[in-house]
This record gives sequence, C-alpha cells and structure tokens, in this order.
Amino acid sequence: MARVKYRFRDHTLRPDETENADPVLCTMECKGCGETSEGAEYSEDGTQWAAVHLKAHPGHLTYREHITRPYRFEPGAWR
Ligand SMILES: [Zn+2]
Repeated sequence: MARVKYRFRDHTLRPDETENADPVLCTMECKGCGETSEGAEYSEDGTQWAAVHLKAHPGHLTYREHITRPYRFEPGAWR
C-alpha cells in the first residue's frame, strides 16, 4: 500500500497592503438610532461625525465604531 505524504506550507495572515486591496474603512454607528457615518479612512472622521450627530440628537450618547480591514495570507516556507 502506497503511502501518501502531504506537504504543507506555512502561511502568515497580515493586513493586506497590496495595491489592489480594499481600503481600510472606519464607520461610526449611533447605538441610539442605528444611523452610521460614511466610511472613512481615519477614525477621527467618525468621532467628528458622532459629535455632530450628538448636537442634532442630544439623547444619543453611545456609539460603536466598525473598522473594515482587508487581510491576506502570505505563503511562507514549505515544511
Ligand atoms: Zn443617533
């Protein structure tokens, strides 16, 4: 009976910073009403959005930040 041997390759998962990767997006969501900011590259844009949102809706005090970051496995050595 033949023995089959499999080889595996180590992979490392890293944030995808290649040219065609999706951009990192930060979105702020109001927990009071569910409204969200437009996705932005900088989280400061989201906190600024929340400050403006609070002025318009004084009761909306809690927020949730969503960060979308692309990842990619990079193949490494065979073992
Ligand atoms: Zn709100």
